[in-house]
Amino acid sequence: MGTGTLTIDLDALAANWRALDRLSADTVETAAVVKADGYGLGAGRVARALAKAGARRFFVAVAEEGAAVRNALGPGPEICVFSGHMAGDTEMLQDLQLTPMLNSVEQLTRHVESLPGHAFGVQLDSGMNRLGMEPAEWASVAELVLSLAPRLLMSHLACADEPDHEANARQLAAFREMTDGLNVPRSLSATGGILLGPDYHFDLTRPGIGLYGGLPFEAAQPVARIALPVIQTRELTEGEAVGYGCSWTAQAPAHIATISGGYADGLIRAMSGKAQVFAGDTPCPVAGRVSMDLITVDVSHLNEVPAALDILCPAQGVDALAEMAGTIGYEILTSLGARYARRYTGG
Ligand SMILES: *Cc1c(COP(=O)(O)O)cnc(C)c1O
Repeated sequence: MGTGTLTIDLDALAANWRALDRLSADTVETAAVVKADGYGLGAGRVARALAKAGARRFFVAVAEEGAAVRNALGPGPEICVFSGHMAGDTEMLQDLQLTPMLNSVEQLTRHVESLPGHAFGVQLDSGMNRLGMEPAEWASVAELVLSLAPRLLMSHLACADEPDHEANARQLAAFREMTDGLNVPRSLSATGGILLGPDYHFDLTRPGIGLYGGLPFEAAQPVARIALPVIQTRELTEGEAVGYGCSWTAQAPAHIATISGGYADGLIRAMSGKAQVFAGDTPCPVAGRVSMDLITVDVSHLNEVPAALDILCPAQGVDALAEMAGTIGYEILTSLGARYARRYTGG
């Protein structure tokens, strides 16, 4: 087989959901964010495994993403849409029974006019200035909204992965100012906010990255594993160069393995000359530039070259790989692309 293999451990995913669920009180519901195709790992499979673990509410970024999740879950669980009720979404929201998180008075108007009686929530801006109603805007419609029994009032933290950042307390205060005393379920925290402690939990938490094994949830079990088959190996003499731009030159006789996987598989070009892959526990440096479909690796120190080398594995998780490429685990996972042979285990 020529392609890399992406193995997704649904038992680890479920264990991460349960571990995050245990970090808040029993009275706090733990939802699951499955946007961007379940952080690149397959929204349908991921959502089903999380529903089995106990998740009853799911979040996607846009209504279009709701279809795969609804197909996988059937009619029961609630599927919420962060981008709210966009023009053209009405039919999708109705057919798929999605709950939009309304972000503006314009969306509120569209929603009550086109889908009266259809479930909705409201997203409030507590200081991130990205999505949600501003405090004054909210004040102008709060009474009307509350008379329509919204499912949820939510907001999002900008700096939750930095526990000491002053924005956390400021956003918490702003969210409370907008929602204290209202008899509606509230949600402020994604993965990072859960770790900030009970003040941030309210009625519902919305973890994403921690489910998939990424920081800031340090206790997460790894979920994704990638093995890339060795297509060819060759011996180089001192002074011979490898790959586009001849950017890596053998300083001594060297053994180079060419593995199947490249920037078209989300193994981004910024990993060139920086990342490493693993033969079991033994790291092997990437030699030269990552190309679209191939990566060249210095395996001179191995006694035997295995049939495949691992780029995501217990020895190197998504955040370690991301760090070498100057990015974050979220971007590595959501960039992986469609070419891998995907294997699901557990679940
Ligand atoms: C993506 C997202 C989440 C999940 O965030 P993680 O950091 O992945 O846990 C929660 N809420 C909103 C509004 C989001 O956009």
